[in-house]
Amino acid sequence: MKIRRVHVHRFSIPLRSPFRIAIGELREAPEVLVRLECDDGAIGLGEAGPFPVLTGETQATTLALARELAPLCLGQDPREMEPLLRALHAAAPGNPSLLAAFDLALHDLAARAAEEPLWRFLGGSGAPLETDQTIPIAEPQAMLVAARAALAAGFRALKIKIGGKPLAEDLELVARLREDLGPKVQLRLDANQGWDVPTARAALRALAPFAPQFVEQPVPRADKRGLALLRREGAVPLMADESCFDAPDALELARLEAADHWNVKLMKAGGIRAALRILRIAEAAGVRCMVGCMLESKIAITAAACVASASSAVAYQDLDGCTFHSIDPCRGGVRAEGALLHLPEAPGLGVEVDPEFLSRCDSFHVA
Ligand SMILES: [Mg+2]
Repeated sequence: MKIRRVHVHRFSIPLRSPFRIAIGELREAPEVLVRLECDDGAIGLGEAGPFPVLTGETQATTLALARELAPLCLGQDPREMEPLLRALHAAAPGNPSLLAAFDLALHDLAARAAEEPLWRFLGGSGAPLETDQTIPIAEPQAMLVAARAALAAGFRALKIKIGGKPLAEDLELVARLREDLGPKVQLRLDANQGWDVPTARAALRALAPFAPQFVEQPVPRADKRGLALLRREGAVPLMADESCFDAPDALELARLEAADHWNVKLMKAGGIRAALRILRIAEAAGVRCMVGCMLESKIAITAAACVASASSAVAYQDLDGCTFHSIDPCRGGVRAEGALLHLPEAPGLGVEVDPEFLSRCDSFHVA
């Protein structure tokens, strides 16, 4: 089983409305699809979700580098992926979502070759997973309406994006959400690096009475010591997201005891193997993690769900990326039923891309 052709597609997916967080905004999901074709006809799917303010990648840089990396895959057996992945990571460090695309496609192929769904291939149980629903930054009334709709649809946990407005407005918003939605809903607040330490200190103290389940990434990515300081003050549980890209980040977070929880994402880590490496560190350090996402399609959302299924360090899921898309270019993969995600039984990721959608994407291949 050898890879004989690498197909790369500009896989832009329109959004229902602009997706705004503290550090930026997306008007479409700027995905890149990598399809690895083997000599036996098998095809593995992988997806990159570049987001410049988070991963430092754009769709254009991802497409350009995919062309550079593709030749490394030719003639390689996807079932022996470790050395190939090491070579890919060495060839394009700092491009985690691009690397995730290749990693996902290799895992899809290896699990298909084993005739197992990816979650079982990774050792998971395949039990349904519960995800939250993200509420991006908007006018407070619109956020309240979106939150009520999510609860009506069966979600029990909401991830509220804050940190992009003056603190007083965020506090007013959270107070209003808690009062309107009641005490039972789990409020996960994500500031996306929006505050410095003094502002975060004031914010966390003021937010504590509204009993957030945790507050995600209150301070800039590089400030792990600031995060640790805030955690020791103990106002509310903290989750590291942008501060936790890869295994070295995870080791430092563990050493500093900087956060109660880590948000592990395929697009930050550089794929499934790298994400599982972080989760093993978390397990050893006794840290309960969330598996999260950017705005990926069913391809990467399914892969992330398989990773969540396969690690006992995972306590939470934030796998709602494709709910912001105005179209679904995929068939199969995880099936959402309210807040529950059902994992597919088909081999590999169990996802196919609509050929008609694919035919309209700009594409190239390397053989
Ligand atoms: Mg986050």
